[in-house]
Parts: sequence; structure tokens; C-alpha cells
Amino acid sequence: MSEPITGSQALVFGALDSGISFATGVPGYPITGIMKLLIGSSVDARWSINEKVALEAALGASATGRRSLVTVKHVGMNILADPLITSATHTIGAGLVILAGDDPGVKRSQNEQDSRYYGLLAEVPVLDPPCPEAAYNSMRRAFLLSEKVRTPVILRLTDRLNNMEEAVKRTPAATGDFQKFDRDTWAFTMKGKHQHFHCETYPSMEKESAMAGTHRLYQRGKDIGIISSGYPSSLVEEIVSADRFRNISHLALTMVNPLPRPIIDKFIDQHSRILVIEETEPVIEEQIYCSGVFGKLTGHTVYGKIEANDIILALENIDMDKVNRTCQPETRISRGLTSTTGVLSKNLCEDCPYLGLYEVLGNLNVPVAGDLGCSVMTAPPPMEVVDIAYSLGSSIAAATGFTEKGIALIGDFGLVHTGLQGLIEAVHHHNSVLVVVLQNNIAALTGGQDVPDMTGVVQTLVPDTRILDIRNTGEDELATIIRTELGKEGVSVILARATCAKY
Ligand code: SF4
Repeated sequence: MSEPITGSQALVFGALDSGISFATGVPGYPITGIMKLLIGSSVDARWSINEKVALEAALGASATGRRSLVTVKHVGMNILADPLITSATHTIGAGLVILAGDDPGVKRSQNEQDSRYYGLLAEVPVLDPPCPEAAYNSMRRAFLLSEKVRTPVILRLTDRLNNMEEAVKRTPAATGDFQKFDRDTWAFTMKGKHQHFHCETYPSMEKESAMAGTHRLYQRGKDIGIISSGYPSSLVEEIVSADRFRNISHLALTMVNPLPRPIIDKFIDQHSRILVIEETEPVIEEQIYCSGVFGKLTGHTVYGKIEANDIILALENIDMDKVNRTCQPETRISRGLTSTTGVLSKNLCEDCPYLGLYEVLGNLNVPVAGDLGCSVMTAPPPMEVVDIAYSLGSSIAAATGFTEKGIALIGDFGLVHTGLQGLIEAVHHHNSVLVVVLQNNIAALTGGQDVPDMTGVVQTLVPDTRILDIRNTGEDELATIIRTELGKEGVSVILARATCAKY
């Protein structure tokens, strides 16, 4: 019997045994640890500056016959969506898998979203395994499927799958040469590529999803059946092991795009009432919704993270056609992020070199667009420095829309990720904005990964760039400098240099 391993390790073994030779990724919860394991392996693995670049590099690798893996968190799927969607009809070479880390319950993210939707939009396969063994097998399968249908395959994971442990049986590693990009695809027009996709490729994906053995089917009773995917499938199996639920059948889907329609239709026909259990959104439920199917849309289960109690409650209400839930949105206080006295209990490091800068910015009466590095933690009370913070790299472009010259606060990783485009736009249109770059040469919020130095690029774009050693600049001096820059027309940049106290 082999030793138990985590879901993360199973995924890494699955990728290595599939013969990957190239891996890219962008750090972020919950996928950072997986990429760290790959960076320490024999694979040519690297952190990329953003997810679009990460996928584009992997597409190039795939074209020349290298099986490739891309690891991103769920919001990263938004950034790589452009090449992903085109790649489905453009076609690829060797197998390419995108490992998308979702964060149901929003432990460490700026939103809660479901990466499985990208499978429907891009028309590519999505695998959603429930446990480490299925994760290993799904990874092995994903590379074969990717080569068969010549599109990237999305493999979704969540934190609880990452940390779940079980023994995993590894199968012999893939060897030999992998397929390369086939130039014959250029014989089609763009329209023809999509027509070919729907005549040949998508039916092939559907056939794969409906294949026996792809999913786990537990036939027990004929009254209630549960359809699930991902980690919640493991929760369902725990619950139905209790005596009072032992007659409940369970169809645990591991491939959720395309859905295995014949298998699902048969399962629905065989049971009186169907409960759909899935995180985060009703992706499966929306596609199979009809009389007798219950889940989030009928109020039986919650959106977001699914706990065992949510499944039990749904089963206790399964005889009702609609469940009315009271809505109590989580607050910072109820989650323990802010104490009832307004003091932040989990926030910036006490010895963060930027505390003085935040103090100064908080006392200015100008709008501040923030970014999704450490500085976003200054938005809630009592600091209230950052006013808005939409996405990584967004602050400079957002601040160019202010009615007055305001401040764009951005980390150096945010700048290199997608912030530079906002700076180019601001310079090009002669906008008035003061850009303050928190330049500590690392991505602090995701674990201290190195960040390329953009000083020369920024100075080329904005010759009048000031460089400040923030630890040796007093708050009064800092306030004077910032007020002076705010008083000028056009783009001003301050590179606020300091060493992160944590990394
Ligand atoms: S991780 Fe570094 S940059 Fe972030 S709050 Fe702590 S000291 Fe400041």
C-alpha cells in the first residue's frame, strides 16, 4: 500500500508522469504550492508575469511538441481567456492542461468565481476531480484528451482537494514524442475552423465524457439521487455512509464539460428527486434544470463553498419544491477580520515599511485607486486609504477616470502584471494621475516571488519619475512630495522603494 499523498502532490505526479517538459504559472491561492513543487523538478517551470503570457508561452511549447501545464488561480482565468477561447478552434500540438485553482468561500481572493464556466465559453473540456486519486487520473487523462481533441483542457481544483490525503496508484509514465501543431488547420477560414470544431471536435469531447468509467456511479435506491462534481463529491460519499441516507444514489461527475448527457438523463429517469451538489455556481444544475431537479436554483443548497451540513440540510428539505433561505452576508466582523472595536485583527504586517506612506495617503482628500497586493488591506476601516481596487494591475487605468488628479497605488507585481498598459494609456492620453509604485521587488501577498525591475521602463515612459527610499523619508517630507506631485498636470510617478519586512 503506497503512502497517502495530498491532492497537490497527486496533480504534480500526474503532470510529471504525463511527460510534461514545460510549466508556467502565476502565483496565487490556492495553486502557489503546486508550481513550487514543479519549479523544484526537472521540468522547465517558471513564474510568468501574467496569466495570458503564461498560456501563450505554453501554447508555443505545445505547438513544438512539449506537453505543458499552466497553473493559475480562478481570477487568472479571466486574464488568459483571450488565447484560451481562440485556441479551441485554432488547435494546439502536444497536450496542454490549465490547472485552475478556485477559492469557494473566498479565503484569499478578491472574488468568488467558478472556473468551470470557462469550459462552456471556450468550448473546451473541464475535469473536476473529487479526491487525490481522481486528481492524478484526471491529470493523466487530461493530457491524452487534450491531444485527441487538440484543445487545452481545464482541470479545476480547490483548496480542500489540494489538502485532502489518500493513497494514489501511479501508472507507468508517458514516454516518446508528442504530437506537434498541424499546419493543415490553416486551410480553413476562421468560420470553417468553428464549423470543423462543431462537426468533429465537440462530438469527440461528448463521446469521451459519456464513456463508461469516466464518472463514479453509486446506485443505491430509486427515490433520491445526487449529482455532484469536484471535492463536494467526497463530502456526499461521507454523508450517504450514514444509516439514514444509505439509500441515496450518487453520480459523481469528474468531467463536467461537456456533460455526459446520456448518463445524466438515465440517472434522472431512474430517480424521483435529484439534488445537485457543486461548488461554486450552479454550472451543472443550470444545464440539467427541470422538474424534480433541486439545488442552488431552488434554494436547497448554498452558492459558494459547500459544507457537509449544507448537503444534510438539502436532503432534509428534498420533499419541498422550493426552500426559502434567509440571507446573512458575511461581514469583516463576523469573519474575525475586524474586531467589534474597529481595530484590524488580521491586516498589514506591524513592521511593514509602507505604514507611514499609507498614513500620509489616508490624510489626503483625493481619490485613491488601489491594487490587489498588500495595499488592498488598507481599504476597510479604520485605515480607509484605498477607495477602489478592482483587479491586479487595474489602479493606474482606474485613476485616469477620476474627475481630478488622484492617486494610483500599485505594487511592483501589479505594475508588471497588467498595470504598465494603464501607464502607457495615461501617458498617451496626457491624463493627470499620480502613480505610487510600492517597489519591493517581490510579490508579497502570494509568498515573495521575484518581480522584474521596471525602473528603466517607467523612467522611459515618464522621465520625471521620483525614486524614494521610503524607510528614510519622513512622513512630513513624504506628504510635501505627494502634494507637489498632485499639483502638477499630467502623469507623475513615485517609485517607493523598501524591503518587505516579511520576505
Ligand atoms: S508582506 Fe511585506 S509589503 Fe506586505 S504588509 Fe507585510 S511587510 Fe508590508
